[in-house]
Amino acid sequence: MENLFEGALSHLEEAARYAQVHPEVLEKLRYPKEVLATRLMIRMDDGSRRSFRAWRCRYDDTRGPTKGGIRFHPDAKEDEVITLAFWMTFKCAVVGLPYGGAKGAIQVDPHSLTKGELERLSRAYVHAFANMIGPNRDIPAPDVYTNAMIMGWMADEYANVVGHPCPDVITGKPIPLGGSLGRDDATARGGFYVLNHLAEELGCNGGTRRAVIQGMGNAGSHMAEMLHAAGWQIIGMSDSRGAIYDPSGLFPSAVLRAKQEQGSVVAMAGREGVREISPDELLTLECELLVPAALEEMINADNAEHIQARVILELANGPVTPAADRILARKGIAVLPDILANAGGVTVSYFEWVQNRQGYYWTLDEVHSRLKAIMERESRNVWNIAQKHNITLRTAAYVHALNRLSEAIEAHGTQAYFAG
Ligand code: NAD
Repeated sequence: MENLFEGALSHLEEAARYAQVHPEVLEKLRYPKEVLATRLMIRMDDGSRRSFRAWRCRYDDTRGPTKGGIRFHPDAKEDEVITLAFWMTFKCAVVGLPYGGAKGAIQVDPHSLTKGELERLSRAYVHAFANMIGPNRDIPAPDVYTNAMIMGWMADEYANVVGHPCPDVITGKPIPLGGSLGRDDATARGGFYVLNHLAEELGCNGGTRRAVIQGMGNAGSHMAEMLHAAGWQIIGMSDSRGAIYDPSGLFPSAVLRAKQEQGSVVAMAGREGVREISPDELLTLECELLVPAALEEMINADNAEHIQARVILELANGPVTPAADRILARKGIAVLPDILANAGGVTVSYFEWVQNRQGYYWTLDEVHSRLKAIMERESRNVWNIAQKHNITLRTAAYVHALNRLSEAIEAHGTQAYFAG
């Protein structure tokens, strides 16, 4: 497998060929600002004590406090956390939020913990990183296998540390604890707005519209529902346990019910024309839209050649490796890149933080219309940059972000200013 962080840096170097940036900007963006690794020790329900590796990385804060989710996953590792924080830096810049990028993780399979153990571990994370996070410094949010309830526990633990409620320290909280309306489906909704806004240019605003979704979690399941409601046929879906296929189209609500009751989308196999297929087969189904919404590096040098989608919309972070990117570009498959396509989540997280600081809450319509305006404006910007330089949408998104980051970094003065 390609080195994740080196792959991420290759996008920076590529974008620098089209953005007029000072070398000092690249020097600053090649390295994380702060990385803290620790072990969290908690009491298990059987009375024993166990420790878990945990990290937080604040990659760059030139444009504002850092922002990024916390992931609970058995394969979490430092290189991945740093890469995800790098991507967050560029994502916040693409959509013009006044934030830098960060990310955190605990190396754990949360499904192996009891609810009490999960709460203690979540609180231990905040205790360990209490000096690193903060509403003006670094604001976490949910990511893979973390959810609103965990964010609520974490906000509560931070309040215990500082001695007063502090809802703006974390986003993705339950609504009664200061969460924003519209945060739950914001990642998918943002991607949906991007897709609709560029549908004509991408050639998917009519005719047969078949979609395949990898990863039926928060991001993927909401996307399935939105696409289905808009008339798309969802012919394939998957989760960590397997994949299903129905050429006549699956009903997302039925699949999600089966997943909730029996633990996996595969529970649908055998019902009314639905059959189980391998996870590899799912990615290579003939379709108009492929939505990777699981984990990194799912589309790589080994399978990219076999992808038959017309458009890939990246709801996951980093699902396509740089080597796969080159193959897809050669095949003429358009990729709506993660730092644009899944930026709806962080955008509504930003709205949540703004509402917490104002102590004044918006209606769902206000959230949706502000999100739509941002996603459409930045989709157009990225599209125009891609057209101007004849580059992929990913490189264009990085050029757009790099321009904003370099403006901020250069505003402190470069060598030309001090030595000129
Ligand atoms: P989640 O924990 O809600 O869901 C993850 C889903 O992926 C689960 O259904 C799981 O079964 C599935 N999965 C795991 N491994 C898989 C595999 N090998 N093949 C197929 N499915 C697999 O997580 P989420 O919040 O939906 O995040 C999914 C992706 O979206 C991640 O890359 C995350 O970083 C990204 N993302 C999420 C948000 C957000 O707001 N939730 C925002 C931006 C990006």
